[in-house]
Amino acid sequence: MTHPTVIPPVDRTPTGHLPAVVQAALVDPPAGPCPVFRDCVEAGPHDHHFNHNARVRSDGGELLLDAGMVAFSEGDDDRPVIYVGGEDFADAASVHAATAKLRQLLDEVDRMAVRVFADHEKRA
Ligand SMILES: [Zn+2]
Repeated sequence: MTHPTVIPPVDRTPTGHLPAVVQAALVDPPAGPCPVFRDCVEAGPHDHHFNHNARVRSDGGELLLDAGMVAFSEGDDDRPVIYVGGEDFADAASVHAATAKLRQLLDEVDRMAVRVFADHEKRA
């Protein structure tokens, strides 16, 4: 059996819908086997709690943003952390402040996109 050696070009045409991986992350409840954290996806006995499943990818598969949680049950520092991109947050208020900034940014990017492509159309 032969396999194609040429990877077809990525179709970057906006689809107007959420990528399947984002929809799955938003719809699927956390796995829930962990007795400590509802959002932890580790199964069986464990001290390292995590969930790295909150990811947004482009239709072409590139990672746009990731978020998740990490915590340890043992050790000196057992405080959980929520991360968004490369930044860690130690409490819900800090997470909410950061996600509010992201929502504001995304709204501005949407408005920018409308302006830029409308201006481009006027040039043509
Ligand atoms: Zn866990």
